[in-house]
Amino acid sequence: MNVADSRRLASALEQMGYLPTRKPKEADVIVLNTCVVRQSAEDKAIGRLSSLRPLKDNNPNLVINLMGCLIGVRGNQEIQKRFPWVDVVSPPSDPGPLLHYLTERAGRQQIQENQTKRNAVLDDELILPLEEQGKLVSAYIPIVYGCSHACTYCIIPAKRGIEHSRPYQEVLSEAKALVKQGVKEITLLGQIVDRYGLDLSEQLTLAMLLRDLHKIDALKRIRFLTSHPNWMTDELLETVAGLPKVCPHIEVPIQAGDNEILKAMRRGYTVESYRELIQRIRRLIPGVSIATDIIVGFPGETNTQFQKTYELLNDLKMDVAHLARYSPRKGTFSARKMVDNIPNEEKMRRFRLLESLQEQIASDINARLKGRTVSVLFEEKTRGRWRGRTPTNKLVFVDSQNQLLGQEQDVTITWTGPWSLIGTIEPVSSSG
Ligand code: SAH
Repeated sequence: MNVADSRRLASALEQMGYLPTRKPKEADVIVLNTCVVRQSAEDKAIGRLSSLRPLKDNNPNLVINLMGCLIGVRGNQEIQKRFPWVDVVSPPSDPGPLLHYLTERAGRQQIQENQTKRNAVLDDELILPLEEQGKLVSAYIPIVYGCSHACTYCIIPAKRGIEHSRPYQEVLSEAKALVKQGVKEITLLGQIVDRYGLDLSEQLTLAMLLRDLHKIDALKRIRFLTSHPNWMTDELLETVAGLPKVCPHIEVPIQAGDNEILKAMRRGYTVESYRELIQRIRRLIPGVSIATDIIVGFPGETNTQFQKTYELLNDLKMDVAHLARYSPRKGTFSARKMVDNIPNEEKMRRFRLLESLQEQIASDINARLKGRTVSVLFEEKTRGRWRGRTPTNKLVFVDSQNQLLGQEQDVTITWTGPWSLIGTIEPVSSSG
């Protein structure tokens, strides 16, 4: 979400006449877009914020904008007092405050309304920064802002506000605008992306949106994340299976493998119903890859409860598991009402156990791809090698002198590891 928001803001700044620089010392405007989902993210944001002070001391004209979850939809007086060198603060996904500030500062009379609205996009509007136009292969589009689910550990609802879907036509316009600027793959984003449209007046669904996006000619691939187990309808899964451009890849977090912990997390499902869901996904979408999220060391999580998570992961054989150690977030229910009683070393031990289990699982799953031919959409060349992904979201590296950017090519896999694959482009067989 922050990547999408930052791009959008960078493009709006360029339309006001600003240009990007790699050197903070040269900047007239610095935007720090922040995440606070775990303490480590918050610490990083605070560290960066502190490091900006000397720049401001040397250049009083520098404008520093602090954006995102460190501010949140309700503002953050404490942070503003602590970091007085911040000139403007903006809630997540909102370029408005900075654009207004800069316009007023420049003494301009009028600001184009659509520049400060975070939503409105016209089909032919430039929404990518100049240096990414024609180069960015894969882009994000937030379609559901905020979240109203309120898992007990999660700070997102407090920082991003209540759930609201973006208007249908706006999403389509943004997709078309991105595709016109060279984008080949779009990933739709939401905290519970499957709930897209449910809060809009019309009976709109994510499945409908996928069908309409599918009609955009030059768009090659469509993805979406994150799903919540309770909102994945058969209609959605069948739509994914039925549309060739929609990638067979689902991100659906389990968070814990024990029903008591799931209840304490207020996730709203059981281990049994999650297992059934995974079976249903695999039945309805042949060849699907599935990613999950897991938190270890939630307050009160016993070793036996952790073992259940371990067994579940071992059983379900997910393609990817994003692992996190529980981090109490001020303002959440679990931080207020529950004791963070699992010592760090124990959280780390559980984390490492799951990590090495998943390494083995992913190695086994990926090893089956050796010698097989898969379709890869190439996104960039890094250190002499092309990097791309399969529809199932596996990372693939290929050595090639050809210009592969934005191309979807058949690749034969020659090496597999737990986190990535290596392959070669098949020699094109001549038809004559
Ligand atoms: N809305 C999505 C994504 C939430 S943030 C969802 O429901 O899954 C991404 C991941 O961060 C979550 O899935 C969770 O595993 C992790 N996370 C969120 N809050 C956390 C916390 N307080 N401590 C540790 N991990 C957390």
